[in-house]
Amino acid sequence: MNQIPLAVPHMSGNEQKYIQQAFDTNWIAPLGPNVDQFEANLATYTGANGVLATSSGTAAIHLALTLLNLQRGDTVFCSTFTFIASINPALYLGATPVFIDSETDTWGMSPVALAKALEDAAAKNKLPKAIIIVHLYGQSCKMDEIMELANRYDIPVIEDAAESLGSTYKGRKLGTIGTFGIYSFNGNKIITTSGGGALVSNDAKQIEKARYLAAQAKEDAPYYSHSEVGFNYRLSNVLAGIGIAQLEVLDERIAKKREIFEAYKATFENNATLTFLPEWQETFNNRWLSTVLLEGIAPEKVMEQLAKKGIESRLLWKPMHTQELFQDAAYYSEKIEGSNADMLFQKGLCLPSGTQLTTNQIDYICEMLREIIA
Ligand SMILES: *Cc1c(COP(=O)(O)O)cnc(C)c1O
Repeated sequence: MNQIPLAVPHMSGNEQKYIQQAFDTNWIAPLGPNVDQFEANLATYTGANGVLATSSGTAAIHLALTLLNLQRGDTVFCSTFTFIASINPALYLGATPVFIDSETDTWGMSPVALAKALEDAAAKNKLPKAIIIVHLYGQSCKMDEIMELANRYDIPVIEDAAESLGSTYKGRKLGTIGTFGIYSFNGNKIITTSGGGALVSNDAKQIEKARYLAAQAKEDAPYYSHSEVGFNYRLSNVLAGIGIAQLEVLDERIAKKREIFEAYKATFENNATLTFLPEWQETFNNRWLSTVLLEGIAPEKVMEQLAKKGIESRLLWKPMHTQELFQDAAYYSEKIEGSNADMLFQKGLCLPSGTQLTTNQIDYICEMLREIIA
């Protein structure tokens, strides 16, 4: 058996056509027709009024926080169970993160923990400037509950949908429900531009402001005129060409990802050792990575054993409040004792989920997994 990777980029074949167009027209720049087309197609796909293609998902979060006027000394609430890119941009701006636990139905931000944190913050007169929620592994958070709390305190919500392009909540595409949404087109995501991201909002004016900030905040004048701090965060026109072709096959990729997930789930349906990340009511999960919780066996051990069989797997995100970088940060867990996010990290594993996986390979992975957990 050959090495089976966790997931690798999957090109459609059409990418070269759009890259060639960029070369033919010499649009080798962080703007151009491919960028315009990619943004327009993303707007159509997601239903967002405004879309800005960026050099990364992290850059998109940095822009969103800048538009929300996050400043040194402000606080930001963020899901603890995430990849560090969700919160790094808050540190660039000198803000203080407060981390919020997950709930166990969706693994997303716990509305119970969020309510506690907001009550506390209100009592101290230190409400956050933003709440960053993360739709992990393709799964939507409990949006009605979260938005109700955010609206009650009038706090903007940034949806980090880096892993959840194409997933929905009550029919709406993730990323389009809060004040801002962000996507990532990094090499490990469901579709990729090799590196890239997007900032979306239903407030098209805000996206126009972001477009200006992402181009060094250069003002409209016959000379180089600046009155604000800007960034160099636009997506390259060459890479946007990859994005156009990738977006054409996104729904196909999601269908395949869901097939892979269903194959794992069907195989281990009656096995008490494995439980799968559920698809919460009225949500649709793109199944970017098939993730499981293991009962009675350490995921690290399973990962090691799978590696010996040529199968790559990966642990879930290590919660931010347990990272040395954030040892001084406040943390609100859902329950008085224990922490759901820590439990998820201690029990969870991502299984191979590449859309090039063959039925034989999936059977082989299941067979090896069954042996290891037996
Ligand atoms: C990948 C990822 C990001 C960052 O995206 P980049 O494009 O790599 O900057 C942010 N948040 C989450 C949850 C991610 O998985």
